[in-house]
Order: sequence, then structure tokens, then C-alpha cells
Amino acid sequence: MTEPGAGSDLQGIRTTAEDHGDHWILNGSKTFISNGILADLVIVVAKTTPEGGAHGLSLLVVERGMEGFERGRNLDKIGQKSQDTAELFFKDVRVPKENLLGELNGAFVHLMTNLAQERLAIAVAGIAGAEHLLELTTTYVKEREAFGRPLARLQHVRFEIAEMATECAVTRTFVDRCIAEHADPTGLGLDPVNASMAKWWATELQKRVADRCLQLHGGYGYMSEFPVARAFTDGRIQTIYGGTTEIMKEIIGRSSSADPVPHPRRTLTTKGFP
Ligand SMILES: Cc1cc2nc3c(=O)[nH]c(=O)nc-3n(C[C@H](O)[C@H](O)[C@H](O)COP(=O)(O)OP(=O)(O)OC[C@H]3O[C@@H](n4cnc5c(N)ncnc54)[C@H](O)[C@@H]3O)c2cc1C
Repeated sequence: MTEPGAGSDLQGIRTTAEDHGDHWILNGSKTFISNGILADLVIVVAKTTPEGGAHGLSLLVVERGMEGFERGRNLDKIGQKSQDTAELFFKDVRVPKENLLGELNGAFVHLMTNLAQERLAIAVAGIAGAEHLLELTTTYVKEREAFGRPLARLQHVRFEIAEMATECAVTRTFVDRCIAEHADPTGLGLDPVNASMAKWWATELQKRVADRCLQLHGGYGYMSEFPVARAFTDGRIQTIYGGTTEIMKEIIGRSSSADPVPHPRRTLTTKGFP
């Protein structure tokens, strides 16, 4: 999806796929693509009907080795160093018609349907990450001593732990409900608005917890060898990729009913995608 000039606002996508009978000619570039270096196959959002706006976008499957498909460098990030994040370039790439994924000009609907799952997965990582950090930190403050007693004996420290434990417990309940909604074969599937709520809330919680847990580790929290330091930088992206916190709030605010009732599935709007 993401291009140098189109992140939150997918209507800014410039990559085009021109119809040439039995194939498309693909031109453009993408950036910040997770696993873009390693991937043998990438799904590219491209404009197939330039005047169609959100409804002029399609998904094309592009394969390693197709002439004109190049990868840039592995981008240097502040965290998640073990995962590659790449730029992709397409110059007159000949993509067979059968590599169209889903409906012609249907990318918007396909993305809206499937981004809910991606957002849920990010929310799950958010709450799991926060819980793990809390566990590590609870152990740490029981062992580390200051002024002759463990940090955990200080009321401020206990309150910090108590607040984080409460927020994690409340968040997990909502994320679990979203998982159940997503997994229910008889239901309507995960409501995209609930997915947006889970995504922004759980990842912002993860960010807050990482910051507070780092503080509770003192100077050791700033040392790369401590897991809390790595979690602080690795987790920072969570409120950005998969749709930023601000975009999640836009989706929630614009939904036809912005209350937290999960069913029936709310009407999707193409305004301000994603
Ligand atoms: C490590 C990493 C991995 C990624 N993986 C992928 C991937 O695999 N595939 C992919 O397609 N993309 C990927 N992305 C891209 C990611 O989804 C985008 O960076 C993200 O959607 C934000 O887009 P942007 O960077 O262009 O920021 P912008 O859209 O320029 O936003 C900048 C700021 O403005 C705010 N903003 C923008 N619009 C509004 C609005 N309407 N209201 C309020 N605030 C607004 C944003 O919330 C943000 O705070 C990845 C990014 C990173 C860093």
C-alpha cells in the first residue's frame, strides 16, 4: 500500500497499472514494506482506473524475477532490526491479467475487509507485549533494592504496577472479545470499527507501559541488553503501522454509529480511507 507520498491517505497512490490486453504494465514505487526484501511475492495496490478514486484501485500479485521489479535498500529503523523493511520499484513491469487478486477496482473493499484482521493481530501483539513487560518489571522491582529495601516496597512503585495491571486486564477483555468475534464462523466477522478501537487502544497502552516499565528499571532500562530497552524501540511502531492511532480514531468517529455495540456490522464509508 504505502508509497513515499501516500501513507494514511491511500487516495494519494500514484502507482499505476495500465491495461494492455492480456497483461498490465505496472509503474510506480512503494516504501516501508515489511519483509519486502525477503518476499518472493508481493501484493501491490495500483490504480487501474485513474478517475475512479478509491474505487479505481486493484490488487496485483507481483513475483520475484519479473522484469522491472526491483527492491531498494533494507531501511535502517530504530527498532525491529531483525525484520526487513524495504522500498520496492516497478518500472514497466509486465503483470499477467491472471495476477489480479480479487475484483477489478475492488482493492478498497478487499482492504477494508481484511485490514480488520491485520489490526486485530497488531492489537494482540500490543496487549501481549504490554503484559510481558509488566511481568518482567514486576520481577525486577521485587529484586532491585534502593534505600535498603526492594523497589516494590515503595508505594509509588506498587501504584505504577497496579495501574498498568488494571489497564492490561481491561484491554485484554476487549481484545479477547474481538478475537471471538473474528473467529465466530456463524457471525458477521470482526467489525472494522471494533478492530480500529482495539488497535489504537492496545498499541497506545503498549507504548505507555513500555515507557513506564523502562523508567522503573532506572538506568538499566536504557541499556540495550535489557529486554525493556528493546521492547521500548521495537514497540514504538505499533501505533503507526497498520493505520495510525489518529486514522483509527477517524474511522471510529466517522462510523455510522460510533458506539461500542459490535453488531450488526456498521456501514463502511470510503471517505478518509483507510
Ligand atoms: C516498520 C514499518 C513497517 C511498515 N510496513 C508496511 C507494510 O508492510 N505495508 C505497507 O503498505 N505499509 C507499511 N508501513 C507503512 C505504514 O503503514 C505508514 O507509515 C502509516 O500508515 C503512516 O503513513 P505515513 O508514514 O505516510 O504517515 P502520514 O500519513 O504522513 O502521517 C503523518 C502523521 O499525520 C497524521 N495524520 C495523517 N492523516 C491524518 C488525519 N486525517 N487526521 C489526523 N492525523 C492524521 C498521522 O496519524 C501521523 O501522525 C510500515 C511502516 C513502518 C515504519
